[in-house]
Amino acid sequence: MLTCEPEFLQPELMDVVRLFEGAEDFSIAQSTAYADGAFENRVDVNGEVRTFSDEAAFSDELQYKSLCKRYAKLALYHALSEETGIALPWGALTGIRPTRLAYQELEAGRDFAPLFSRMMVAPDNTELVRRVIAGQRGIYERREGNCDLFVSLPFCPTKCEYCSFITAPIAATRKYLPDYLAALGRELAAAQPLIRTLRSVYVGGGTPFALEADELEEVLRAIAPLRQNGCEYTVEAGRPDTFTREKLEICRDYGVTRICINAQSFSDATLARIGRKHTAQAVRDAFALAAPYNFSVNCDLIAGLTGETFGEFCASVDEAIALSPDNITVHTLCLKKGARLKEETQRLGEGRLSEMIAYSRRALTAAGYEPYYLYRQKYMAGAHENVGWAKPGTACVYNVDVMEETCDNLAVGANAVSKKLFEGGRRIERHGSPKDIPTYLAKADKLISERAALFA
Ligand code: SF4
Repeated sequence: MLTCEPEFLQPELMDVVRLFEGAEDFSIAQSTAYADGAFENRVDVNGEVRTFSDEAAFSDELQYKSLCKRYAKLALYHALSEETGIALPWGALTGIRPTRLAYQELEAGRDFAPLFSRMMVAPDNTELVRRVIAGQRGIYERREGNCDLFVSLPFCPTKCEYCSFITAPIAATRKYLPDYLAALGRELAAAQPLIRTLRSVYVGGGTPFALEADELEEVLRAIAPLRQNGCEYTVEAGRPDTFTREKLEICRDYGVTRICINAQSFSDATLARIGRKHTAQAVRDAFALAAPYNFSVNCDLIAGLTGETFGEFCASVDEAIALSPDNITVHTLCLKKGARLKEETQRLGEGRLSEMIAYSRRALTAAGYEPYYLYRQKYMAGAHENVGWAKPGTACVYNVDVMEETCDNLAVGANAVSKKLFEGGRRIERHGSPKDIPTYLAKADKLISERAALFA
């Protein structure tokens, strides 16, 4: 249990508690005050009291709150780290986007490394952020009127065991598909006049290739009038067992530039364990099937999958590199709270997971890939991160824009969150659609008018 003073720190401090396995059961009381030019934090963990003092100056209420949160989190991090004997790779940083803090420091004319060091970020992660920022050069652009388009297709052949998306097996939801495609068509037609400069289109899921070829074509036909010249166009095709020549041809005919062939692992035993219902050979076959179309290809891998050994993970990284896609994304397993996978993954041990991630960084770097986007989620195994890697000149615009929140995002379909930037990007308003398909269908027309009001 956590109690704190002032109360507005509660959610921030809970984010720190969640980083430490088992700490949610600790008894924690924290108080934060500002006196004589310093934030004073008193942290009581299971009866042991520690105090921390951090000098800081602020000029307004907003800055006061921001610094108050920063040093309260740092104090709690130190206390929990001492209590548990655990040091975490991102230290007291809890946000989804470590690059955001780095950009803020750079925009203020300061290097971000001293702040990262103070927040106890591991030096190799500080270096990773520096490389990510370098990898975004030429793409990172905060400009009003720039927009990305996301089209949500929450359908999959089967549900993978570790998946926390709202997607459902298509056998159970196919009955909604005709109405869903019609609603998407209406949303897209209404979106066209709201978009000034379109930087990218991303058709994601789910598994867009879970749709039949004619259904997929209906989606791409509805998108066609919105595309603008030179605009990046990704269809996150998805699982290799859904690939057909016909679907790839439709993608080519509608100007798709990028697809995803998501392996997750090249170990058949792991794939069976996580409910993927395809083999490593199916991944190789999908790469071979897609090769003649010259799409830019992304391949997803996951570190920390249940039962996967260090050797199996390294072999998966090597095999993905050997297939030579433009982009390889290395995720860390995101633990679903209370899920069986959580316990199984814990058995893997943090040491092995860190070694896996370190191996992926070494191997991808040696193969000529550079990191270009990075994000973290709640309940990530070992409090690690997800990193997108790209060969030079192939970084995905959509991923950079979404992760750095530098552009508007107009998102259609169920479980789609649109974002509109105001005041030069300093303020973001969001508009979300229902996760559940029947509710989305019932509200689709209302969503259209709400979004029009936001983007008008
Ligand atoms: S294919 Fe992807 S979206 Fe679909 S169930 Fe598996 S992990 Fe989730």
